[in-house]
Amino acid sequence: MPTCSEALRLILDSVAPLPARSTPLFDALGLVLAEAIVSPETVPPFTNSAMDGYALRAEDCAGAGAGTPVSLEVLADLPAGSVATEPVHPGTAIRIMTGAPLPDGADSVVPVEATTSEGSRVRIAAPVKKGANVRLAGEDLRAGEELLPKGFALNPASLGILASVGLSEVPVHPRARIAILTTGDELVSASEKPGPGQIRDSNIHTMCGQALAFGAVPVPFPRVPDTRAAVTAALEKARSAADVIVTNGGISVGDYDFIKAVLVDLGAREVFWKVKQKPGGPLGFWLLDGRPVFGIPGNTVAAMVCMEEYVRPAVRRLAGHTKLLRPEVTGTFDGTFRKTVQDGKVHLLRVRARREDGRLVVAPSGPQGSGILSSMLRSNALALVPAGALALRPGDEVQVHLVEEPEDR
Ligand code: AMP
Ligand code: MG
Repeated sequence: MPTCSEALRLILDSVAPLPARSTPLFDALGLVLAEAIVSPETVPPFTNSAMDGYALRAEDCAGAGAGTPVSLEVLADLPAGSVATEPVHPGTAIRIMTGAPLPDGADSVVPVEATTSEGSRVRIAAPVKKGANVRLAGEDLRAGEELLPKGFALNPASLGILASVGLSEVPVHPRARIAILTTGDELVSASEKPGPGQIRDSNIHTMCGQALAFGAVPVPFPRVPDTRAAVTAALEKARSAADVIVTNGGISVGDYDFIKAVLVDLGAREVFWKVKQKPGGPLGFWLLDGRPVFGIPGNTVAAMVCMEEYVRPAVRRLAGHTKLLRPEVTGTFDGTFRKTVQDGKVHLLRVRARREDGRLVVAPSGPQGSGILSSMLRSNALALVPAGALALRPGDEVQVHLVEEPEDR
């Protein structure tokens, strides 16, 4: 039976980035570049005005002052998107809007607020610095320069950069599609009133929500009854419907736990079943036609913890990310925890982490039963009680996964 870190290693060693696809910018936010991007163009493509004002020759205003204003003849009006048909020559100016190409002959722009209009002339009562309010061609990006490295996760600024040089589609690793199959005869939908012995299927919502938050595409399947035939039919469908399959429930040693047996029937290769951890001990991992299959136990917290600790890093690798794991830091425990037996497992506690005098202090966010989702809701981190420890006391050091922080390793 692998430890948590061995299980994670076995999973990550079994997955590789999905083949790159040329993807329109509107669909590319958060996706990872499969290649470095070199700029085919220069930005700005032409020298232009940074202000609404007057394009002129700084030299003409050299002697301008409050008592000695300079008056220039205004030759034309130049809106953004137009090009001047005549140059600025000594003693003249062209009225120009932000973004319009600087006319030949002009070297500076005076903002309209610093001028006084006098019919067909403009009065300027202060000297002008040569080059003022002019944006030079290529001052932002140069043709041939590397804009973004391979492995870059596209953010809004990078989408704008790509658009500005005419790259409307980019080679990225696609979002992984995750088939999510909840199982259990006791389950009804959130919209239904449970009958005797029934509960609502909450995991389909936590897990689909997590998949979306991981940057993947959840593909929720119709709930699967606890029969071998139903599990077989659902997995047969899922094997061609997604890049990753996640089953939930039916993975322990109960009389109606068919996931394992059916995966064997379908020819899946078992990488491991069971991990030395709590919650989520019955977690299993298979490869079905080379696709990762996670068999995750049904307890609500076990489901979320396994998604966070194992499915998320795998999905990030599929998506081409190189940083796969959230920050792991040392915290100071503020509470008490005791295992009921020495089970040799790492216990992942739901905790609330806070900064206090430069230290990270973590306190349990509520009762730690693997079906108690309310303490998951109140947590922002998982504390890892080592396999060899029987208890944690106030002030003990403990390793913590910061599950609301971006990956850093
Ligand atoms: P299992 O892993 O199938 O043995 O289920 C373990 C526990 O989790 C049982 O109490 C189930 O009722 C509960 N459970 C299983 N699946 C779900 C689900 N989709 N939503 C909420 N609870 C579930
Ligand atoms: Mg079940």
